[in-house]
Amino acid sequence: MRIGLGYDSHRFNGSKGGVTLGGVTIPHRQGLRGHSDADVLLHAIADALLGAIGAPDLGELFPPSDPAYRGADSRRFVREAYRRVRQAGWGVANLDATVVADSPSLSPHKARMRQIIARLLEVHPSDVSVKAKTTEGLPPGKAGIAAQAVVLLAKRPGTRRPFDSSPGRSRGSRPGFRPPGRPRRIPGPALGAPRRSR
Ligand SMILES: [Zn+2]
Repeated sequence: MRIGLGYDSHRFNGSKGGVTLGGVTIPHRQGLRGHSDADVLLHAIADALLGAIGAPDLGELFPPSDPAYRGADSRRFVREAYRRVRQAGWGVANLDATVVADSPSLSPHKARMRQIIARLLEVHPSDVSVKAKTTEGLPPGKAGIAAQAVVLLAKRPGTRRPFDSSPGRSRGSRPGFRPPGRPRRIPGPALGAPRRSR
């Protein structure tokens, strides 16, 4: 398994136009400043995907200085990040995200966001969580919107189970896998030789 974390924030632009979050355009008294459609949620998700496979981040893959991405639909960034995830042999197990915004209210739109994100990542909407938080006066406050996303990748693409429990394959035999609760064995004569379990 691999885990990835993404974060993004955009300032309000002071002019009307609505905000696009998770691929959903929501009416708002002002839009977000950005080179693309400024979808902070999808940007955080793309970076989480890229981070999970150790790929270059969103800003490196799609430089804001490149006019090709002016006003771009951010779903293309997620598609490209997910394409790289698949190419590396991984699939998405689940994704959890938080949007930090004092306004607009996201409650009426969260289900649609989950649908759009789930479709992009080829998972069921129940594998995608989108939560909303207000700022309590902390940044970004009234200045803009931020988003965080964490994604778990599983080796078998499309699986909804984070663990590979296929028969005939011992979990303990996987390289780097240590069952939870079992401490790392520390070599040294003082601790004695590890006993074989019966
Ligand atoms: Zn962004």
